[in-house]
This record gives sequence, C-alpha cells and structure tokens, in this order.
Amino acid sequence: LFVTVEGGDSAGKSTQLRLLREHLLGSRGLAPDQVLTTREPGGTALGAQLRELILHGDHVDPRAEALLYAADRAHHVATLVRPHLEAGGVVLSDRYLDSSVAYQGVGRALDPEQVAALSLWATGGLLPHRTLLLDIPPETISRRREAGSLDRLEREGEVFHAAVREQFLAMAAADPGRWRVIDGSRSREDVHADVVAALAADLDA
Ligand code: C5P
Repeated sequence: LFVTVEGGDSAGKSTQLRLLREHLLGSRGLAPDQVLTTREPGGTALGAQLRELILHGDHVDPRAEALLYAADRAHHVATLVRPHLEAGGVVLSDRYLDSSVAYQGVGRALDPEQVAALSLWATGGLLPHRTLLLDIPPETISRRREAGSLDRLEREGEVFHAAVREQFLAMAAADPGRWRVIDGSRSREDVHADVVAALAADLDA
C-alpha cells in the first residue's frame, strides 16, 4: 500500500504521518519494519543533499529546480519506495509527485502537464494507491508562520500558496478515486481521525 500526504507548507503533514505510523503499529499491529515513513525531497542520502541545495542554497532556475525534484524522486522510488512495496510493505510519503505538479507546475508557472509527465518518467509511472490532501487556506499558513510553528525558511507569499492550494484541490477533484481531501485547519486529533477513516478501507483490504 502506497499512501502519500500532500498539502501546503505547515499543513501538518509530518505530524499526521507520525500519528498514522503510531496507529498502524499500535491499533493495526503492523511491525515497525513493515511501515516505511519517508519524504520528498530528502528521503534518501542523495535526496537530503538535493533538499539542502534546493531549499537552503542560492536561487535555482525553475526548470533546473523541477529537474532536481525529479532526480530526488527517481532515486527515492528506485532505491526505497519500490523495493519496500515489492516486499509487501506500506509506504507513507510526506509529499510525492503531486507536490511537483502544484509547486513547480503552478507555483513556478511551468506547465503542470509537462511537470507531471517528467515525474511519471522519473518514477517509471508509479502512482500512489491513496493520496491525502491536508487542505489549509493560505491565511492559516501565514498565521502558523507568524506563530513560529513553521521551522523552515519559507520564501513565498500568500498568492503563491493560494495558487498551489487551488492546484491541489483541482487535482483532487479530477481524480476522486485516488484523492481524499481533509480539512487540515482543525486540531491534530480531529485531522488524525479523518486520516484513519480515509484509509480504513485500504487497510482492511
Ligand atoms: O515538505 P516540506 O513542507 O518540508 O517542504 C519544504 C519546502 O519545499 C516547502 O516550502 C515547499 O514549498 C517546497 N517544495 C517545493 N516543491 C516540491 C516539494 C516541496 O517547492 N515538489
């Protein structure tokens, strides 16, 4: 089972993935090595270097940036995600190719379809079984940032985040078989309950 969690900055993805992992080990009885929790960019050693370059280095040209994200993803899928899935495990990824379609495709004004095609080439066509969108309005991103709960350098403003959010919502609406939209502006307990409910059928299968 391959599950990805998408959403804007400070949507609570990493917290929800941690709670979901605890749920799978505790309530569902999965073994720790059956559940791989990972992220993009940065799930591998190469990815961690790419993450540093992209997020904390000098300005990167948008097309170059898209290619670096694609390189991270290709390596991540080939060395970590696909082997774990083939061994029958569960993979939980904090961001995956839909982040590129939203951030590089729309946020950076590259063509979303071309960015999607690049990602599919990079991954050999591997799509998640289930994608959870933790949806939060751009004002919440600004508020959480001001409250200091965003521990990363965040360089973009509300217009950028609004465009990214609209793209995520449009992708979710276009493919309701894969996506589940969860209101991420509520308490972590409420969001967690929805995350578990959204995956119940997949976990029972
Ligand atoms: O996942 P996380 O929120 O830590 O991502 C760090 C940053 O990388 C975010 O600020 C996001 O804007 C950016 N990002 C991006 N394109 C991606 C993935 C992440 O611009 N494909």
